[in-house]
Amino acid sequence: MAIIPAKAAALLIILSGPDLCGAGNNIMKIFKYGSEVLRKKAEKVVWSEDIRKLIADMFRTMREGNGVGLAAPQVGRSARVIVIDIGDGGVALVNPEIVKKKGKETCVEGCLSFPGIEFEIERAGEVDVKGLNDEGREVHITACGLFARALQHEIDHLDGVLIVDRTSFLSRKLASSKLKKLIKESKKNEMLS
Ligand SMILES: [Zn+2]
Repeated sequence: MAIIPAKAAALLIILSGPDLCGAGNNIMKIFKYGSEVLRKKAEKVVWSEDIRKLIADMFRTMREGNGVGLAAPQVGRSARVIVIDIGDGGVALVNPEIVKKKGKETCVEGCLSFPGIEFEIERAGEVDVKGLNDEGREVHITACGLFARALQHEIDHLDGVLIVDRTSFLSRKLASSKLKKLIKESKKNEMLS
């Protein structure tokens, strides 16, 4: 801690105002498997400042949880908004839609709503996605590899589809005690809120 002269301290507060006032970059609660909001089909949204703030909060929440992607239903908002960062700065999409899929790839996937659980999941190897970016402008993305996987995973969330629905019966069975524990905790949290 340093001692700052009063004038300089006032300036610092003004410069860092938005963060101090909570106008963005808040860490949000992540809803886990068993929470009702994860099973709802999320609503299309009209781009607004509120959505821009939601995106900033979702990026912060995702990075805090060491995730590579996050969908709005995971933070309790039934809205068609996703954020992804596979280590290249990140992308946010509003009302994303997959317009083309190509190839098949199987890979192990985790999810911030399923802590401690991973499933092997087959998905398209390449996808074309359209939507609005965090400025409300229309964008088209062609993605492959991890980026394509993350896009499909997060867009699934917007339709209430979860990794547990995409894996094999045997994998689900092997994880059943962990899954039951998550459901129990989520139901308890819903009753308390
Ligand atoms: Zn997920």
